[in-house]
Amino acid sequence: AQRLARPASTTVFERMSALARETGAINLGQGFPDLPEPPELIAAAQAALAERSNQYPPMRGLAELRRAIAAYYAAEQGLAVAEEEIVVTSGATEALASALLALVRPGDEVILIQPCYDAYQPLIERAGGTPRFVNLTPPHWTLDQSALAAAITPATRGVVLNSPNNPVGALLDAATLEAIGALCERRDLWVVSDEVWEGTILDGSAHRSALAVPALRDRTVKVGSAGKIFSLTGWKIGWAIAAPPLAGAVAARHQFLTFTTATPLQWAVAEGLALPSAWHREHRARYAHAKARLVRGLTEAGFAVLPASATWFVTIDLAASGLAADDEAVARTLIETAGVASIPVSAFYAEAAERGYVRLCFAKDDGTLDEAVRRLAAFR
Ligand code: PMP
Ligand code: GLN
Repeated sequence: AQRLARPASTTVFERMSALARETGAINLGQGFPDLPEPPELIAAAQAALAERSNQYPPMRGLAELRRAIAAYYAAEQGLAVAEEEIVVTSGATEALASALLALVRPGDEVILIQPCYDAYQPLIERAGGTPRFVNLTPPHWTLDQSALAAAITPATRGVVLNSPNNPVGALLDAATLEAIGALCERRDLWVVSDEVWEGTILDGSAHRSALAVPALRDRTVKVGSAGKIFSLTGWKIGWAIAAPPLAGAVAARHQFLTFTTATPLQWAVAEGLALPSAWHREHRARYAHAKARLVRGLTEAGFAVLPASATWFVTIDLAASGLAADDEAVARTLIETAGVASIPVSAFYAEAAERGYVRLCFAKDDGTLDEAVRRLAAFR
């Protein structure tokens, strides 16, 4: 085992899904929807397989897809990005890997804001960098700007942002993003902005991209994922967007990680991105319905559910629910005794600063959610 590079273990999502399969538990752990999949995209993928090329696309992605991504951001977010600034990748995971391998040099420090997605730390370490952690403050998961500034040292080169945040669904507000912009400009830091949950904001807030902050426009790599926008997590079509010099550096890494990603699915995502705003509104409405159903059921059963603006997740505050605040123990008991898989939020911390929350995925049909609530209520 000593010969293996870190990390040599399996992610919490994979472990929880395997455990759910073994025990027959309802899987509200790993974030994937169990709702009708967009028929427009399925039909487009079938047509592309039959009628278009199944050979290598251009290394940076089909021009048609890159144009569709640019048009989508112009229409949905009023964000201007050029085709030349986009690199299509095998999911957001590969966009993150390409960006971090391009930006992090041995000895660099990179700031991570916890709770944060589990891929960032190993990728930074793989590039020879060292993560430095700043914690969001519950229950609203706000960012203390002085804590962020205090984490910067002479070795700091960049910051990874994730708004909307997985696991807690919090957004960085406009003032905070502006302040981060001013700080990054002053200290000459780059930003990797993981915005994969941008299409899942359910409380009416607008998505704010780091690329829309003038001070960050030329120092940011924005990461997106069709898997999240269209609820097709297995498609693994993602992208990185940055000013041309940065985009070139990301593409240089991408070419030796995967080089390209599935051509027919690129065509299908390009067609999907041309769907009107009304389609996205209706798609979100289906998710808002599922979220309201799970939150109502959990609340009626006596669980304290924290507010969340976005993602497919809600979190339960264990102490406020009258439960022992040890999220891993609770998650284990829930899967073994109640038959419901969840994700302990401490898995999103390097040093488990918070142990008082578990995350549940609500992107399921009504029957699944009702049965999960019934099991959780009986468990209490
Ligand atoms: N970043 C975050 C914050 C995520 O939640 C996920 C998916 N769970 C990813 C990146 C990876 O996205 P993809 O499946 O497109 O690789
Ligand atoms: N992003 C999904 C989640 O947070 C799953 C990611 C994964 O399985 N690696 O649950």
